[in-house]
Amino acid sequence: MPSDLVIVYHRQPYEEVAVNGKTEYRENKSPNGIVPTLKSFFGRVDKGAWVAWKEAADPANPGFERVIEIDDQHGKYTVSRLPLTKEQVSSFYHVSSKEAFWPILHGFKERYNYDPVDWPTFREVNWAFAEAAAAEAAQGAVVWVHDYNLWLVPGYLRTLRPDVKISFFHHTPFPGADIFNVLPWRKEILESLLCCDVVGFHIPRYVNNFVSAARSLLEVETLKRQKVKPEMTTETSALSEQSVVTDLDYQGRTVRLQASPVGVDVDYIETLARSQETEARVQQIRAEKGEAKLILSVGRTDYTKGGIEQLESFERLLESNPELRGTVRLMHVSVAANANMTAYVEIQEALEAIAGRINGRYGTFEWQPVALISRPVPFRDLVAYYRAAEVAWITPLADGMNLVCKEYCAARTDGDGVLVLSEFAGAAVELGAAVPTNPFSHKSMDSAILFALQLDEAERRGRMAENREIVARQDVRFWAEDQMKGFDKSLGAGRGLA
Ligand code: UDP
Repeated sequence: MPSDLVIVYHRQPYEEVAVNGKTEYRENKSPNGIVPTLKSFFGRVDKGAWVAWKEAADPANPGFERVIEIDDQHGKYTVSRLPLTKEQVSSFYHVSSKEAFWPILHGFKERYNYDPVDWPTFREVNWAFAEAAAAEAAQGAVVWVHDYNLWLVPGYLRTLRPDVKISFFHHTPFPGADIFNVLPWRKEILESLLCCDVVGFHIPRYVNNFVSAARSLLEVETLKRQKVKPEMTTETSALSEQSVVTDLDYQGRTVRLQASPVGVDVDYIETLARSQETEARVQQIRAEKGEAKLILSVGRTDYTKGGIEQLESFERLLESNPELRGTVRLMHVSVAANANMTAYVEIQEALEAIAGRINGRYGTFEWQPVALISRPVPFRDLVAYYRAAEVAWITPLADGMNLVCKEYCAARTDGDGVLVLSEFAGAAVELGAAVPTNPFSHKSMDSAILFALQLDEAERRGRMAENREIVARQDVRFWAEDQMKGFDKSLGAGRGLA
């Protein structure tokens, strides 16, 4: 049976577990991610489908079912698994995406590497995704494509299935024309995206950047624009009321550009935060840290996350404020990924070197200033640390949204805690009551963390209450509803999706 909604997302929507020689499909281990939210859309349609890849030594003879049927709490849906070779996955997903697209999307032109990109393979894999989506979609169905690894899918799909409605969501930032246009394939990518009915971004700035890139290369006309408040100021939270919409006309077609920020599952996090298990863990962490204030930083080991800049700021903090020695601890969680990529290995080594230096210079037998953690912390434990940490210090140099800062606020059911947040995280547009910081400026980094440590309780609670309200209102369901409205308005109601 063809599907009313086809989600094209590179990851499979479950964990595959072998039980007594049989494969079972279970809910993903990380319930805080975006996957459960996407699956919840299947509850709104008669029939849904998901397209993902799965590695196969021989794609012609993959040794697994290409299409499987799932029947879970979200309803019945099929999952189409594209068999890709290890080389294809490495080329399209790890190399092209991480070495060429990722640095450009985040504004790091100097890290952009053209050489290893195999564009024909990128096209070939995107074509395969488009074909699989076309095979699943019912007449006039909505096909929802996710992220830059699949940039070319909308264009291919439009030729294969002119009848379907195509929506695309960018989970990363989108850079302005001067940066985006470094990509030699810029025009092909934009032309593909302009085959969509809706292109979604987290914040209005990314929409504006997309418009600037499109205008620099193609004849597009802006049909409708909504005035928005400035984003990078401390007083306003521009997105607190609604999403922002711009309509572009390209070759007689209208493409809707929409900003709506991804949120977190506040109900789930609050339930976890209030559980007895978390409470016991929080008490344990507090007992272990004693009187010292805990500063928590969580992210992946990636140059975009600003880990080095943060550790250097912490070093300066201890250097310039001797009275703080012994009274603060930094737990810096930087989850190592892509072990085979030089850029990431270098950052990991730099983090270890700085953390080691700080501990060597200032640590004592009783007090270790920095705990550098490179392994992933299970989400349940993370919530306990969120609850126990006096300050969350989240300072990416660039980040599409950043969910950690929202999770921190959601977990503070006690109403205390201070969030120090980089102005270059998408979330900063919403979380106007965070202590803002510019991670490119030593002065800003150093004064923000000192300010956060010195805030009195009334001020802390006031700011946290404001941020918690926004995080609760603009949670993951808000985002889902906003996407839905985009489907309804520009894709036409009556598709059975409402
Ligand atoms: N996370 C986790 N354990 C860790 C580090 C991170 O569970 O040790 C989770 C974190 O709770 C968040 C996600 O990983 O949900 C990171 O999302 P974010 O948007 O902050 O950053 P991304 O890695 O997507 O750039």
